[in-house]
Amino acid sequence: MSRNPITPTIPLDAQGVHHGFLKLPYSRDDSAWGSVMIPITVIANGDGPTALLTGGNHGDEYEGPIALQELATSLRPEEVTGRVIILPMLNTPAVAAGTRCSPVDGANMNRSFPGTPDGTVTQKICHYVATELVPRADIVLDFHSGGRTLDFLPFAAAHVLDDKKQEAACMAAMQAFNAPYSVRMLEIDNVGMFDTEVESQGKVFVTTELGGAGTATARSIAIARKGIHNLLVHAGIKQGALQRDETVHLDMPDETCFTFAERSGLVEYLVDLGDTLRAGQPVARIWPADRSGEAPAICTARRDGLLTARHVPGLVKLGDFIALVAVVEDQPDA
Ligand SMILES: [Zn+2]
Repeated sequence: MSRNPITPTIPLDAQGVHHGFLKLPYSRDDSAWGSVMIPITVIANGDGPTALLTGGNHGDEYEGPIALQELATSLRPEEVTGRVIILPMLNTPAVAAGTRCSPVDGANMNRSFPGTPDGTVTQKICHYVATELVPRADIVLDFHSGGRTLDFLPFAAAHVLDDKKQEAACMAAMQAFNAPYSVRMLEIDNVGMFDTEVESQGKVFVTTELGGAGTATARSIAIARKGIHNLLVHAGIKQGALQRDETVHLDMPDETCFTFAERSGLVEYLVDLGDTLRAGQPVARIWPADRSGEAPAICTARRDGLLTARHVPGLVKLGDFIALVAVVEDQPDA
């Protein structure tokens, strides 16, 4: 296997604050000797754990990039014991285009791990992250939101893992993040995810879904900001108190949490995010967009729970995601 062509323009293992890029040569029509430049900030001080914080894995999700840009400009080395590696716009070409997948190779970064050093642009970035950044980290936080086609109740999540000790460490970090909702997630199709790669290296991993609809709100940014602070305190990297608010514990035990559209058309939601649903209850009606006088198709919840994610915008296509119904757990806030 060839060497990964990415080179950092800053030292990754030096003390102090360094802002620079991961430079990936990318020869193309408009720049024969050009490069993809992935912004990176490293803030290190003394001996301690390393946190790897990433946003923009998908390019149309904004809480992570904004909150991490703020962190990169405001976190002072004297506040840090150990190291914080910040990549606010990991999938830089997708962030620049405002798209979920990379416009360069069409790849979904979160289905492209562990990547390969001689593959496409996305595969090379994934391979560098998996072989150079994740091994340096003790704890990894990867920000997601719904992007342009989903909207979520704001939650942090940790996965059900075979290694129960690692799972407990991930759950504790997820609870420290302290989003309004805390989700224990069984990933149905985890092949190629950043999550899976980090977890396979034995690291503590937390992910989020903080909103969506192709933008961020003051409230969702505040959740991201607090979560970063709490996670760094929890990891022993930053001094200070955890900022604790109430959180609702949700479980996503299996695929009956999901409902998909079996017709294209105009989607009319009958409940909103956070509303309670019973199994069999209609979540949405899909009206034809091309004729009048025809009854709508009914989409129903497949189990009891809270409407945790929904489709945006108002048109749906056959096979689109309609609803995620997560189960409320009566586990008290730790
Ligand atoms: Zn995402």
